[in-house]
Amino acid sequence: MVFENLKTITEVEVKYTTRSCLAIHSGKSTAYSVVDQPIIKIGGVPVIPGSSIKGALRSITESIFSESGVDVCIPEASIPKTIKRKRRHEDYARDLGRLPPCDHSRGNVCPVCDIFGAASLSGRAMFMDARPESDIVPIKRTHVAIRRDTNAQSDGSLMELEAIDEGAIFLGTIRVFNAEEWQVGAILRALEVLKLVGLGAKKTAGYGEIDTSVEKIMLNTFADGVRKTEDATPNAEEYMCAFEDKLSKHES
Ligand SMILES: [Zn+2]
Repeated sequence: MVFENLKTITEVEVKYTTRSCLAIHSGKSTAYSVVDQPIIKIGGVPVIPGSSIKGALRSITESIFSESGVDVCIPEASIPKTIKRKRRHEDYARDLGRLPPCDHSRGNVCPVCDIFGAASLSGRAMFMDARPESDIVPIKRTHVAIRRDTNAQSDGSLMELEAIDEGAIFLGTIRVFNAEEWQVGAILRALEVLKLVGLGAKKTAGYGEIDTSVEKIMLNTFADGVRKTEDATPNAEEYMCAFEDKLSKHES
């Protein structure tokens, strides 16, 4: 990520506490794994990947804007392949009440892409992996295998799914570069909503319920090559209000 002018870095430290089993899988079972669906680990340690946090917060932020009447795009990655093949992006986006994917090179960047980035543009926000506060031993759950092609239960064969048990605590930082107040507010609001929508796989089976709390907000300001760091935690309310303002300006 390159900025011509680095003025500030806002660091939001978030604590995530699982309220039910959490399963974020790598999407491919490997021959080296003892379970059919292992959870994502880094150096053997279970993590909540920054990319999962980013994806969940992005889709929440899209909904909040969209419901407030602000035009936001549908990300390229959310468009089904069949639509892409037929080059019907614009119709698809219009049917959903969205703009087609933002094209940074043409200068269109919606507020969501401004924070989270687009295919051609890195966003202002970086989402670090959330790491466990203390040692976590994953648990294993057995499920009836589901046939992917028909979504029906297969012949009763079982598969083993790895998950993180409830009550596990993870800490992760979100860094926002040259953030405007409403952008930090948008992330804080999305973290609130994440408590209601959950994270990871098998949410309909009760997985992925999670609590979030903002532990600290640090504001680093750069001027004349000097970095000044201040505790901006008390400004949380202000950031949220700036986001509300941004939304209400668009309400008709
Ligand atoms: Zn966009």
